[in-house]
Amino acid sequence: MLRHRLLLLGMKETDDFEKADFVLFNTCAIRENAENHLYGELGRVKGIALKKPDLFVAVCGCVMQEEKPVRYILDHFGFISLVFGTNNIDAFYDLLEESLKAKGLYVDVRSAPEAIVETEGDDTAGRQSRITAFVDIAYGCDKFCTYCIVPYTRGKERSRKKEDIVREVLMLKEKGYRQVTLLGQNVDSYGKDFGDNYAFADLLDAVAGTGIDRIRFTTPYPSDFNEKVFDVMAKHPNVMPSLHLPVQSGSDIVLKRMNRRYTRKQYLDIVHALRERLPDVYLTTDIIVGFPGETEEDFLDTLSLCEECRYDGAFTFIFSPRPGTPASRMKDDTPDEVKHERFERLKTLIDSLSEESAKKMVGTIQEVLFEDVSKRDTGMISGYDRHGKLVHVKGDLSLVGQTRKVRIVESHTYSLIGVIDD
Ligand code: SAH
Ligand code: SF4
Repeated sequence: MLRHRLLLLGMKETDDFEKADFVLFNTCAIRENAENHLYGELGRVKGIALKKPDLFVAVCGCVMQEEKPVRYILDHFGFISLVFGTNNIDAFYDLLEESLKAKGLYVDVRSAPEAIVETEGDDTAGRQSRITAFVDIAYGCDKFCTYCIVPYTRGKERSRKKEDIVREVLMLKEKGYRQVTLLGQNVDSYGKDFGDNYAFADLLDAVAGTGIDRIRFTTPYPSDFNEKVFDVMAKHPNVMPSLHLPVQSGSDIVLKRMNRRYTRKQYLDIVHALRERLPDVYLTTDIIVGFPGETEEDFLDTLSLCEECRYDGAFTFIFSPRPGTPASRMKDDTPDEVKHERFERLKTLIDSLSEESAKKMVGTIQEVLFEDVSKRDTGMISGYDRHGKLVHVKGDLSLVGQTRKVRIVESHTYSLIGVIDD
């Protein structure tokens, strides 16, 4: 959204810090390494700012909602012009104006979220490319998983009005976008704050009704997941057959300590219902290893759950204590080596499941929406099949924006190689 708004102001992007007149850091606080990365990048810019006194540097996002890092940044990086958080992001243009007037450092971090501001004709969606875009459907989170900083940095859950979401998708479609990804921390609790019965399944149905080519969504929360969503997925061919359903752990004891509001069995029941109803759906997840007090037995429960779900892919993380969260104060006596060793064992299993899933695709025909030149090989063009699997084919830029039938000829853990077959 912010990148797009800067482009609307007439700015041009550069990959080269040295050339930039304006630098904006949008920060993530979800794990400690993201925060450390920010300090490293600010250090790099510091050298440039010394040579270029007019350089405008702004820092925003989740890290700015935390007291300590903001103090650290202000003490160590005096060249910054603007600091704002997640709660007043809608007022970005006003913030820019105020900070230009202030001519020194301008800080505006709000502890509570403002009401969602929608401007007629405003184009707020995050753009991935000219072809695919992110559309926010809800902000914030009320779940308070004990390891997670999001409820503190993003505030309480607020849903955008369905008319605004549908209007935005229609506008994107008109502009030639082919895919939207609906975004929320818990998409399936969409609309709970409206107090009527309008739910995520209804919204998905309405967005599918716009006729845009491809719709994806992330992230559903298992215990809020309503099987009505399966019906909508089955009904509309433009809702893509993939589901990212974070499980975090396969152990009931750990799930409870994480304050995840489902049991292993409830999660598996959803997965079995999914596989039965929509056998073609590609299932992925998020898993945390080394949560405080996780035993070998708990970890084995996670491995066995992965085997049972036969995930097509997963994001795996080592627990990172976040300041102010309950889990950061829990007793954690698992040595780091043990956590890393578990992480590697999990990764080996996930990679073998992903490879197995990719191998099954060889010889099949998949519909691929091409997005860009391959990052690995400039003679190849990359896109995604309907399941969300990355596919590379030999070709030129004229393929970008097209959906073509592709015969898969080779599989790797994270991608497929194919040839056009239509
Ligand atoms: N709202 C989504 C995910 C948000 S964060 C959900 O509930 O699933 C994305 C992922 O980051 C989470 O699913 C979790 O696996 C991981 N994560 C969040 N906090 C973490 C922490 N403190 N340490 C390690 N991983 C974490
Ligand atoms: Fe964090 Fe997701 Fe839990 Fe919300 S539901 S607290 S965003 S992990």
